[in-house]
Amino acid sequence: MKNKLIIAIDGYSSCGKSTFARAIAEELNYIYIDSGAMYRTVTLYCMRRNFIGNGGVNTEGILSELNDINIDFVYNSDTNIYETFLNSENVETEIRSMEVSAHVSRISQVPEVRSRLVELQREIGASRGIVMDGRDIGTVVFPDADIKIFMTATADIRAKRRFDELKEKGILIDFEEIKRNIIARDIADENRDISPLRRADDAVILDNSRMNVGEQMSWVKKLIEKKRDGC
Ligand code: C5P
Repeated sequence: MKNKLIIAIDGYSSCGKSTFARAIAEELNYIYIDSGAMYRTVTLYCMRRNFIGNGGVNTEGILSELNDINIDFVYNSDTNIYETFLNSENVETEIRSMEVSAHVSRISQVPEVRSRLVELQREIGASRGIVMDGRDIGTVVFPDADIKIFMTATADIRAKRRFDELKEKGILIDFEEIKRNIIARDIADENRDISPLRRADDAVILDNSRMNVGEQMSWVKKLIEKKRDGC
């Protein structure tokens, strides 16, 4: 059994994957990578360059500048989180906006965007001791991950969590708009041709509709113990 684990967490939008993954990483002293933030960052870049809008996606434009998009995660000791940087600019707040959420599913369908980000994700995970969350981590990025979790919760509960999260940041968005966006992203993520969102055959399902973070942590600690005991 390898000493440091690779833990892959996939699931639907706004299931609390990031909060859960970050808590596991803290507990184990591992690196946490939010792969959704990477797709959001590429989306923000494309929005600024007018490669995406109501008129569709300018794939040629995206491909010609894909190598100019540098994404970094920098630790902020005040907030205790790794913040996302696009070409040295802190974009952590901007990538969470509804505008980015509305466009990200289309950018994440571009095959070259996916292969570039998957390559980066594998590089980051090469030294192991990592918790990564997303849509294709257990199926495509790390098919040999030691632990795979597939998270789900009802759309209403997910929309309520997202609503509260945005409200806390001072962003007030209509609850129904958030719910519509979540459902639309689920459909887009599940039905795209490349790396669609699906549970890996060996992933354990976690429906956290009625669980708080503490309960989820007790659940995952047992899972990790079992893995370490070789069961
Ligand atoms: O996790 P988050 O909701 O921030 O992800 C934003 C979007 O990025 C998803 O709706 C999905 O389209 C895309 N994504 C993806 N593959 C991943 C992570 C996110 O396609 N591994």
